Amino acid sequence: MLFSGFSKILLGALSLATAGCCTPLSPSSDAACKAIDLALPLGRVNYPDSPTYAQENHYWSNRQTDNIAPACFVAPENTLEVAATMKVLASLNTQFSVKGGGHTAFAGGSNSDGGVTVDLMYLTTLNVSSDRKTVSIGAGNRWINVSEALDTLGLVVAGGRVADVGVSGLILGGGISFFSGMYGWACDNVRNYELVLASGLIVNASPTENEDLFWALRGGGGSSFGIVTRFDMGAYEQPGGNIWHSSLIIPGAANASAIAAYQNLTVNGMPSDNKAHSYMVLTHMDMLGGYAVISDLFHADLPNTADSAHETVPEVFVPFESLPTITKSKSIDNVSTISRAIDVPYGSRQTWWDTTIKATDPSLLIDIVPLWQDHVEKLIAAANGTAVTPYLAYQAIPLNVLKAMEVNGGNALGLKQSDGPLMLIQVAAQWSDSALDELMERSSEGVIGKINDLAKSRGLSHGFVYANYAGNSQSVFESYGADNHAKLKQVAMKWDPEGILRKLWRGYFKL
Ligand SMILES: Cc1cc2nc3c(=O)[nH]c(=O)nc-3n(C[C@H](O)[C@H](O)[C@H](O)COP(=O)(O)OP(=O)(O)OC[C@H]3O[C@@H](n4cnc5c(N)ncnc54)[C@H](O)[C@@H]3O)c2cc1C
Repeated sequence: MLFSGFSKILLGALSLATAGCCTPLSPSSDAACKAIDLALPLGRVNYPDSPTYAQENHYWSNRQTDNIAPACFVAPENTLEVAATMKVLASLNTQFSVKGGGHTAFAGGSNSDGGVTVDLMYLTTLNVSSDRKTVSIGAGNRWINVSEALDTLGLVVAGGRVADVGVSGLILGGGISFFSGMYGWACDNVRNYELVLASGLIVNASPTENEDLFWALRGGGGSSFGIVTRFDMGAYEQPGGNIWHSSLIIPGAANASAIAAYQNLTVNGMPSDNKAHSYMVLTHMDMLGGYAVISDLFHADLPNTADSAHETVPEVFVPFESLPTITKSKSIDNVSTISRAIDVPYGSRQTWWDTTIKATDPSLLIDIVPLWQDHVEKLIAAANGTAVTPYLAYQAIPLNVLKAMEVNGGNALGLKQSDGPLMLIQVAAQWSDSALDELMERSSEGVIGKINDLAKSRGLSHGFVYANYAGNSQSVFESYGADNHAKLKQVAMKWDPEGILRKLWRGYFKL
């Protein structure tokens, strides 16, 4: 009786939509909410006056909820319910969005103002195969659910690094992991996607089934292809789920030597030791005395158990030992513990923009800093004492990661070994005053433009825009290269020939 009342309402609404002579009426989101409410078991659809709605309209970035109110949230409990929801939305021509973990920075990224937001929060199945090689992950899980389950089994996946981030958005955009040096990005580790197409049909995509869709979902995002309901990911043995971690806070004045060490790690260190992983973030915080560099180093090999102080530093990270530090810590912890420790709390307005440049010249990476600092000074002045924390993040895409991306026919991102090694540069900020939104966006966009210009002038530009750190008007799919962009469009046309998703799924990057 799951769908009792569904057909009746749907048919009623459809005849309403086609009544009259010429232009089909566009039934309101309210009609879709009601139709879905009748189609699904009680309690799946939540309206603005309910406490569950308030819980669902809670996102990592305040910009996703400020003055944004869907007509209802729909929270299906299984794939069939997602399919029923999709059928109503398509039939009633209703604008919608999908919330995985809700960690997009910009307004409307995964919330639909006045439309319907499909919240995947109940799709939290998590099953490890009997041979321990595959983990089937429901699309509503957060990474902490995955790591907590796997740590106890001594397994890991090449998934997200931060606890509360959603599994779905991260994998569908690419997914940088602690284990990317060995296994590529998260999307390179999906063995099978289960998804609901615009037609409501449930299909699987793997290297042996619907291969074109499988390729497209590896970096092509969800919103052009369907709602993914389950990811089957490769699992790997990792005793206790433990990794070695060192966190260094370096005074800002030492940024040139820190960046040079990170560039060397990208070009020489990581390719020679694929168990190493690292990112480096420049910031400005009063509590750190102004500008500072945060350097996080991770290693999947654990030192000898006799080293209880965890002081043994993997060879590849030894150059970081001589950098001056404000604080320095080392630990061996499981992925859950680390991912909680590096989580970024809710409650601020957020933006991020990104680009990719060649990593071969340390001076380019160093010369970016003053471009970002000009922007920071402008933001701090405009904030006029209100909270603002700026970031400039360097994330390596070394040759070993580019090579690991080639498994199973490669992904859609268009990153080639011949272009590498590469450096992903992210300009981000969090702040409190909504009056600063426009400045934050335009100024961040401006720095990215200046970084691209500088890289071009030195023959070191690349231009890949990573969807998961992209500003809302960046040309993400164009940056994958003309061939991949065209192929993604073809795949989307094949699986959604009427362009239902392109028309109705609002707010994220379009092909
Ligand atoms: C604190 C923090 C830490 C981060 N750490 C990392 C990291 O370690 N590595 C990394 O690569 N990135 C990282 N990111 C970026 C992250 O990958 C993106 O923000 C990603 O979009 C988050 O996924 P989500 O499901 O939470 O987001 P959402 O905002 O819910 O979704 C993002 C997009 O995907 C769509 N979508 C969601 N679920 C589905 C689905 N099941 N099917 C189809 N489409 C769907 C949404 O509609 C939206 O368009 C981090 C972000 C934050 C805020």
